[in-house]
Amino acid sequence: MKAAVVTKDHSVEVQEKTLRALQHGEALLSMEYCGVCHTDLHVKNGDFGEVPGTVLGHEGVGIVKAVGPGVTSLKPGDRASVAWFYEGCGHCEYCISGNETLCRDVKNAGFTVDGGMAEECIVVADYAVKVPDNLDPAAASSITCAGVTTYKAVKVSQIKPGQWIAIYGLGGLGNLALQYAKNVFNAKVIAIDVNEAQLELARQMGADLTINPIKEDAAKLIQEKVGGAHSAVVTAVARSAFNSAVDAVRAGGRIVAVGLPPESMDLNIPRLVLDGIQVLGSLVGTREDLKEAFQFAAEGKVKPKVTKRPLQDINAIFKEMEEGKITGRMVIDLTSH
Ligand SMILES: [Zn+2]
Ligand SMILES: [Zn+2]
Repeated sequence: MKAAVVTKDHSVEVQEKTLRALQHGEALLSMEYCGVCHTDLHVKNGDFGEVPGTVLGHEGVGIVKAVGPGVTSLKPGDRASVAWFYEGCGHCEYCISGNETLCRDVKNAGFTVDGGMAEECIVVADYAVKVPDNLDPAAASSITCAGVTTYKAVKVSQIKPGQWIAIYGLGGLGNLALQYAKNVFNAKVIAIDVNEAQLELARQMGADLTINPIKEDAAKLIQEKVGGAHSAVVTAVARSAFNSAVDAVRAGGRIVAVGLPPESMDLNIPRLVLDGIQVLGSLVGTREDLKEAFQFAAEGKVKPKVTKRPLQDINAIFKEMEEGKITGRMVIDLTSH
């Protein structure tokens, strides 16, 4: 079967691979779609450590083709996910307290284990989340990372109906954050992006206020117009966005960090203490979060904007990603094999 494999020189090569036999508790997925995430770019470039030979992909869905011994949660014919949170240890303080993505012995698809950007993928059955029947599989692939990550971030922001949430960065993650905030949490959304095309898409998706920080001081405007946001979710990979978010929230506001610029943010300590600001990091989502995120998408509340591409386009997609040319999500179509 064909797979997108990381090379020693930080590129990706489509290679022919043969998978090993299934072990206890595992399932074999015949992959349908796998989205291309910014994290894949980091993995391929060796930013989290060198992983040549690894199959990329943690935003995948496929149909169960076979199950190994002891599998009861999946059966052949089911559609299931390949997510960044591939497997936890199952017994540590994080795994048993609803924080399994923080497990210190976590395995990540497309990084520490082979992922779903391939015609076939082995998953741990109890960790692969079933996709609802009425959800389009290409859309479902986008929910597997981008969707659950933003759904969880909005959840962590504790935004309430009618409150203002500022979303920094309206790309592959941000446009889903907007939809979850608006259509699931019933919040009022402020969309902030340097790219006019992303802001236009945000307006079409129902953003209540859009701001281009190249033209206007986003934090100042948010304070003037709505008295400060109740929460901010930062998906932008830019230190300036994090700094702006701190100034954009009202007293008691929460800033949820999702984007991963390799830098520090400025945080004025009197602002933190006197205004009771909270800053939280949010990493993907648990299996239960993914199940919920899938369900809201199946109900039509969230519609990922996806473009289907062949596996051979993978390096071209990374180039487009680096050049900031992508709106919505690029999804590798693996259905043709
Ligand atoms: Zn991802
Ligand atoms: Zn654990």
